[in-house]
Amino acid sequence: MCIFCKIVNNEIPSNVILENKDFIAFHDINPKAPIHVLAIPKVHVDSFNEVTPLTMKNMTKFMQDVAKELGIDKSGYRVITNVGENGGQEVKHLHFHIVGGAKLSWSHLSDADPMGKF
Ligand code: AMP
Repeated sequence: MCIFCKIVNNEIPSNVILENKDFIAFHDINPKAPIHVLAIPKVHVDSFNEVTPLTMKNMTKFMQDVAKELGIDKSGYRVITNVGENGGQEVKHLHFHIVGGAKLSWSHLSDADPMGKF
């Protein structure tokens, strides 16, 4: 069982922000901003590649509610999901990073030439 399925099953602890029957949001253990929360579906989905449009429909509303719960919906925030090896996905259970609480930086994400591919 993957680490996020263990969080869903209460087999390992997490600091929960918001939860309903389908989704749960909890603080990232290694925050990269003043607010860094992970929102996941309770059912195991490997990554964004496999998620269904229906799950994303409900996930979108859930993440909007998480941002409100955190009080960052007006000040702004960023939603990120890493997919696969090049995306830097470490945990193979779909999760959306919701980061905010301060002005976020936005710099080059790769040393590769941004024009080189096109
Ligand atoms: P990613 O690189 O997109 O797969 O991100 C995985 C994230 O999960 C990282 O930001 C980790 O800090 C976070 N993480 C790993 N284990 C836990 C855990 N037990 N509780 C909360 N966050 C975790």
